[in-house]
Formats: sequence, C-alpha cells, structure tokens
Amino acid sequence: MSYEHVRDVDPAAADALEGEVRRQNDTLAMIASENHVSEAVLEAQGSALTNKYAEGYPGERYYAGCEYADEIEELAIERATELWGAEHVNVQPHSGTQANQGVYYAMLEPGDKILSLELEHGGHLSHGHPANFTGELYEVEQYEVDPETGYIDYEALQTHAEEFDPDIIVSGYSAYPREVDFEAIQEAADAADAYHLADIAHITGLVAAGVHQNPVGTVDFVTGSTHKTIRAGRGGIIMCDEEYADDIDPAVFPGSQGGPLMHNVAGKAVGFNEALQPEFEAYAEQTVQNAKALADQLRKRGLSLVSGGTDNHLVLVDLRDSHPDTTGKNAEEALEDVGIVLNANTVPGETRSAFNPSGIRAGTPALTTRGFDESTCRAVADIIADVVDGYDDEDVKAEAAERVRNLTDAYPLYE
Ligand SMILES: *Cc1c(COP(=O)(O)O)cnc(C)c1O
Repeated sequence: MSYEHVRDVDPAAADALEGEVRRQNDTLAMIASENHVSEAVLEAQGSALTNKYAEGYPGERYYAGCEYADEIEELAIERATELWGAEHVNVQPHSGTQANQGVYYAMLEPGDKILSLELEHGGHLSHGHPANFTGELYEVEQYEVDPETGYIDYEALQTHAEEFDPDIIVSGYSAYPREVDFEAIQEAADAADAYHLADIAHITGLVAAGVHQNPVGTVDFVTGSTHKTIRAGRGGIIMCDEEYADDIDPAVFPGSQGGPLMHNVAGKAVGFNEALQPEFEAYAEQTVQNAKALADQLRKRGLSLVSGGTDNHLVLVDLRDSHPDTTGKNAEEALEDVGIVLNANTVPGETRSAFNPSGIRAGTPALTTRGFDESTCRAVADIIADVVDGYDDEDVKAEAAERVRNLTDAYPLYE
C-alpha cells in the first residue's frame, strides 16, 4: 500500500501513513477494540464523499447534491437492519461515544440517573465516568462484577436498581470477557421502570454473526462502534424500535452533531456488506475460538484471568497473583518492544492506578482477520507469557521478537 499522491506533495505525511501500514504488518494487533478492515473499506473511507455536506437524513437533506450520499446511507441502514434486526437504525454517529451521547441526549434530562458498570470492572468512560460529560451532567451510580467470580452479579444489579431508581441502565462493556445476559438486565430495568441501553461496541460482530446473544428486540436502545469486531468503517451506530426513531434521529442531528461523515458512512456500508457474507460467521466463530485458545494457554503458563477465561473475543489478565511486582504498564511496554501491541488495563478490585494498572487486556479480532487459528494463538500466548516473565531481560525479548517476526511474515496483512 503506497500513498503516491500524498508523497508527491507531502513526504512527511506519506512517511507517517506508510509507516503505519508497516507497523500494522509487522506487529500483532491485540488491542481488543481494534481490527484490520479490508482494502474495500479503506477505499470507501478514502472516497470523495468526504467532501459532501449531507445534513439531515436520506430524502430530507438540508443541502443539494445528496443523491449518492442518500444511496450510500440507505445501503448502510439496510445492511445494518439485516445484520442486527432492529426496526430503526441511525448510522450517523461519528463514534461509539457519540452514539451513546445521542441516546442520553434524546431520552434524559440533566440530573437524571444512570446506573452503569464501574470503569475498572470493564465499563466505559461514556457510561458516566467523572472525566466524561456524562459524569458531570447526570447522577451516576455504578454496579460491579462479583469479586469472587469476575462475572456480573445480576442479582446485586437488580437490588441496586430498585434502591437507586435510575432513569437508564447501561449494559455492554469494554473489558468484560463473558457473555452478557441482556435479558436479566432488562428485568432489572423493567422493575425499576428505567430505559435500558445495551452498548455492544466491542461485540457488534459477534452479535451480528450469532455467536453472542443479541440485545436488539429485548432492550430499548442498542449502540455500538462500527470498527471493532464488525470490521466496518470507523464510527458509531444507534438501533432502536420505531417508536423511538423520532427521539433518536433529531438528537444525533441537529441535537449533537453537524454534517455526517459520509465517507465513514460509506465505510460502514461496505463493511456491513462484507459482514453479511457467509465467511463472516466463520470469522466471528474463529475469533471466539482463538480467544479461548489464548486464554487456555495463558492459564497453563500460570497467568490468572479475570473470570477464569472467556466467552468472547478478549481476555483480561490479572498479574497480581502470578507477578506481584510486574505492573500492566511493564508488561504492555515489554510486549510492544517485541511487536505485540495490547494495553494495560484495570482489573476488578484494582490496587494500583488507571494509568499503571495491574492487568493487561488482549483480544483476537485483528489476529483472526490475519488468518490466525487456535494453534497460532497458543503460540502467541507462549510469547506473551515468556515476555511477562522476563520483561526486563533483553535476551528473552530478542528471542520473542524473532518469534513474532516469524508469525507476521507468515500471515501478511496489507500489500
Ligand atoms: C469502544 C467503546 C465505546 C466507544 O467507542 P468510540 O468509537 O471509541 O467512541 C463505547 N462503549 C464501549 C463499551 C466501548 O468499548
């Protein structure tokens, strides 16, 4: 992949763009929220639609010249409808965070109450964290995972909802390795007469492929990011029943966004079409099998996993038992040195800080896109375990970097 036109006019920018392609080719992307989109999605995102103002929705725009913008947005909507089955879809949110903002802005007043999962237990900033606008505008209380099992404690959540009387309960997480029982959380929402927002940002692809319970049809609002396991153009999406369409659409535009990023909507349309092909189901299943193999091998190598394993595309390692003096940052940095890119992450009952936490989070969506199977994922688990054991040993790291190089060479990504 080269950027000739950029290089002609701007060699410094071309160096960075080509450097990023090289970096993705030469390293193992294990940040659980990342993936590698196809060249078709890249092309759509780099299209002339970036020039177009299309404020409004298909058939009712505030600007002339929107016939192709309409076509592409309608394709994205139709395909999303087929993938997840919602009555109403809005594909304009610029990101997953903006999708959540759209729902809150549509359905809540400042001062209303949000009940969501604690960030360090796997929640997301946009679910009411003090550093996010949601923490400032709304009254927030948080539920937790069971400290013994690492699973969401649905009974405690129900009791908490009865006591707190929230206006909305948020489910869907960033660092939760287990299947989410959206129906159980819906019962808590019904009992508290609250809305339920399921933010499936991470698991959009798993849900679309039927390898995770689908909250559409059970909960009031479903939001997501479109560039994680679903592997489409970067951005966000909101899905709901028809009865909320007239609340949601105006809350996105003009309520909280201006002109839609039509090139990204095009990337969503193309990526969603790929996800409708039979191969995508196999991809999603393999992603989960790969995460289970990764989990199993890490456990065999003596590492502790939050909840003991995984049902989805990610694992969360708690280093405190096996490596009490090694922080998540130590591990993240040593792994980056050898070409494995993942992130330090807080763990339930965190005893360090958000910036230098006690865990690491690792996902298999991008490796699976690259063609990795269970045995390659076990090999990756061995490299991770070796590097965590010897994070300050240059010989260990040099040998690990060689093993990573063999894998990246065997599974090329972009030309
Ligand atoms: C990634 C994520 C988001 C936000 O996605 P962006 O597209 O980065 O804004 C929201 N919620 C959850 C649970 C996420 O994991």
